[in-house]
Amino acid sequence: MRLANITGKKVEEYLQTSKTVLIPVGSIENHGMHMALGTDTLIPDRIAELLEEKSGVLIAPTVPYGSTDTIDGCTGTVNIGSDGLCLILTRIVDSLYRYGFRRFIILNGHGGNCKPIEAVGMHLHKKGAYLACLNWWLMAGELRPEWKGGHGGGEETAGLMGVDPALVDMTYIHEPMNMLNDVSEELPTTSWNTVTFKGASVTIPRESRNYFGNGWYGHDAPDTATPEWGREMLQMMADYIADFVEAFERAPLPEAH
Ligand SMILES: [Zn+2]
Repeated sequence: MRLANITGKKVEEYLQTSKTVLIPVGSIENHGMHMALGTDTLIPDRIAELLEEKSGVLIAPTVPYGSTDTIDGCTGTVNIGSDGLCLILTRIVDSLYRYGFRRFIILNGHGGNCKPIEAVGMHLHKKGAYLACLNWWLMAGELRPEWKGGHGGGEETAGLMGVDPALVDMTYIHEPMNMLNDVSEELPTTSWNTVTFKGASVTIPRESRNYFGNGWYGHDAPDTATPEWGREMLQMMADYIADFVEAFERAPLPEAH
């Protein structure tokens, strides 16, 4: 059931039986030359569609933009920042809280959104409500370790193919990851924002275009992806979330403090 498609009267009826609402949150950002900019929004959107077939949970409209400082500057990326996302989400959940919603599920498609979403969860907890953040790509990798992937790699590419194979530009599917600059010879880049020095990782924040030449990053090359993998993965997430909604609804709410 979609919040945008029902009347206020129907929302009042829904609240008699459930205080749960699910909000998909994504981003518009570069994921390599082969992937549509809306990857992180389109995948949660599709999971929400599949969820609708299995669960009566109320689904609010997707927030399409996210916090993506790291990928900022790569053509097409739109970054509303942690502060922007935190403000938008806080206003959305506070509006819904006012009518009686107390269990908020964020279906998240983008790593840079995690911290602002968690901040909103802490805000809600003080008001006697819960927020659960479902980071689909991390959970899919936990549930099926062979699917675990990086940014714009096989896992996410498969997810996007599961939405619609036409969203992936096969011309660039074999492009190499192309790691670029180290901070110095002594401080080689190892992952997002990190370098290694004498056996330990040190974080040095930089925009990713300084160290990833393509835009995808991970051990899982995009050309390992298939539409079948994607469809199976998105369905698995929808099935999982349908079960999670029920468990979340059974959990007693925290006291306001
Ligand atoms: Zn992504």
